[in-house]
Amino acid sequence: MPGENKLHTAFKYVDDLWDDAEAAKLDPLGRLVYRSNKLGSDLRITNTGGGNTSAKLSEIDPLTKQPVPVLWVKGSGGDLRTSTGENFSSLYQDKLLALQKLYAASPQTGPKTKAEDDMVAMYNHCSFNLNPRATSIDTPLHSFIPAQHVDHTHPNAVIAVAASANSVRLTGEIFGNEVIHIPWQRPGFELGLAMQDICRKHPQARGILMGQHGLINWASEDRACYHLTLELIEKASQFIETKYAQKGGDAAAFGGQLHPALPGELRHKILARLLPWLRGQVSGNKRLVATIQEDEKVLRFINSKDAGRLAELGTSCPDHFLRTKIKPLYVALAPGDSSAVTEAAPDQAAIDAFVETLKSKLKTGLEKYRQDYADYYNRCKRPDSPAMRDANPTVILVPGLGLIAWGKDKSESRVTAEFYNCAIEVMRGAEAIDKYIALPQQEAFDIEYWLLEEAKLRRMPAEKELARQIIVVIGAGSGIGREVALRLVKEGAHIVCVDVNLPAAQATAKEITDKYGSGVGVAGTGISNCGPAIGLACDITNRASIRAMLDRVALAYGGFDSIALTAGIFVPPDTSGHIPDDKWALTFAINVTGGYLVADEARKTWLEQGLSGSLVLTTSANAVVAKKGSVAYDASKAAANHLVRELAVELSPLVRVNGVAPATVVQGSAMFPRDRVIGSLAKYNIPYSDTEETETLVSKLAQFYADRTLTKTPITPADQAEAYFLLVSQRLSKTTGQVITVDGGLHEAFLR
Ligand SMILES: [Zn+2]
Repeated sequence: MPGENKLHTAFKYVDDLWDDAEAAKLDPLGRLVYRSNKLGSDLRITNTGGGNTSAKLSEIDPLTKQPVPVLWVKGSGGDLRTSTGENFSSLYQDKLLALQKLYAASPQTGPKTKAEDDMVAMYNHCSFNLNPRATSIDTPLHSFIPAQHVDHTHPNAVIAVAASANSVRLTGEIFGNEVIHIPWQRPGFELGLAMQDICRKHPQARGILMGQHGLINWASEDRACYHLTLELIEKASQFIETKYAQKGGDAAAFGGQLHPALPGELRHKILARLLPWLRGQVSGNKRLVATIQEDEKVLRFINSKDAGRLAELGTSCPDHFLRTKIKPLYVALAPGDSSAVTEAAPDQAAIDAFVETLKSKLKTGLEKYRQDYADYYNRCKRPDSPAMRDANPTVILVPGLGLIAWGKDKSESRVTAEFYNCAIEVMRGAEAIDKYIALPQQEAFDIEYWLLEEAKLRRMPAEKELARQIIVVIGAGSGIGREVALRLVKEGAHIVCVDVNLPAAQATAKEITDKYGSGVGVAGTGISNCGPAIGLACDITNRASIRAMLDRVALAYGGFDSIALTAGIFVPPDTSGHIPDDKWALTFAINVTGGYLVADEARKTWLEQGLSGSLVLTTSANAVVAKKGSVAYDASKAAANHLVRELAVELSPLVRVNGVAPATVVQGSAMFPRDRVIGSLAKYNIPYSDTEETETLVSKLAQFYADRTLTKTPITPADQAEAYFLLVSQRLSKTTGQVITVDGGLHEAFLR
């Protein structure tokens, strides 16, 4: 039975996930991966992408065929939770140790010297067996600690001790002489040397508490190393939680509550109104994507008396503030500001007034934040510092509402939110046992603008063409819409898959997340927890349904950039060739009024957001060719053609409006069920049999249509998707009010 051989069961604040039976099946490197995955799967132990583990193993040298000691250490990039053997770099341990001599011979050594940074390039020269994995900046820590197994983690509880004003005394109080305190020092070669020194001077030590940073501990056996990591975190947690409870627990946390938490539904109403506007405000440099967090823990902090003071101090762990920036923007509301909306069932006017108050406070707050950031940059910059980066905050805290994190994509903003959650936990712990202190600003700057970090950023692949974009595809459950969704996501866009048929919309969204993943980070909970695609239902003939859908998009991503509307309907006439009145009305409701309603509701969001966008409607070759038997459809599409032009005028200059006019796309179209295909085959006297597969019938009809075109090739949904891509991208950025045909060349449908 898995889990039967667990050694420790007494942990309360961490989970012992080690399973001897599982571990016994693995080779030494496999066991290191196993240990890493177990550590990484608990966010209380280490945050996404943070921490590293190592093992010094004996390997056969490919050149000498002799055994040599090799350091396997988690490399740069990747996450402990999901790491495989490929995420580990392997280095000759003897060569790494020999670097100390080389380093000592440098003309000027010491923390943050060029000599120290130069050692990073030397790690590649120590690579064992041509392992291409980029080595971590923490490699010397693992190499110079003379133990076989080493874990470096960022547990909230331990960082709380490390970020306390009296962290040296507290380290002794909690861990005795088993864990030695080392003051904050930027990770690198010097920190490795300092740790080596500690190990020599304190042979009894089993770990080091890294000031303002985290924990590193070691053992001669892997299972013992894992359990030691848990044990040390457990000790720190126990100490913190005892004091926290003594001080009054949650009710007294962060000085007690100052602002009331608004009820969930009201919060969402306000956030849906506020977020697109806020997205416009923070996207002045480059567009950002939001994640909101509004669970009890986060709100307890944001609504507290001390939140303003603590937020201003900034985050502590270097892993945190690379994402969260030096500090968040905390919106200082007066407790009375929200009083109108905290009354029972506030009316729309009260909500509107509160949203206006929030906007005005946010506007002032953002201006001050950007100024503070520029001041911080100018105060701390060095002669060779990289240019100042985007001065907008990545974390915004709004009392009553929650945390809003921003990133270049959903994955990044989700991880940023996760990191600030960790920061809140750290502050909670530190304030329970002592007083929270942040990293000095210069030290924070020297991490944020470290040339090695800059090099890492430069190594990242170029952003895709539709990166940072959120595109709503209506009709995404099948046919052209589904194809458009799959086409646009390839270019890096986030896709909101919308369909009147919710399971179909969700299926397309799932197809996307299955292929592209949900991004890094452990999924949290809540309305904003999603990956690069979500599936939503919407009836475009109903204005309220459209509004609800667009509000839901705002809560998921912060807003949207473009809309591709592919939903449409074709109602065939009855046997006498007549279209009943209700079918006529339905055809116009979906094909014409639907497009108008979507545009009219989206316009409100676009104007709030103030960012340029694109709307693409779907018309048809039939819009300009009169045919027997499709009067409702053809007339509705003719109206849609003109709707494109009218909307282009209405939504100018912010949003471009264009149309795509497909001709009969039969393959994969919801508008061509088997019955209609057979009807058409009969109508055109194309030979077929009732027993033939639908697929065969479809391709017969598709080829018949193709033969009527100038290019003689069947038209697929993928052909259509290409046109939507062109129109939502910047490739046709000067085109609006235009209808592009994708019909294979139907000369009778040439636009006039
Ligand atoms: Zn670290």
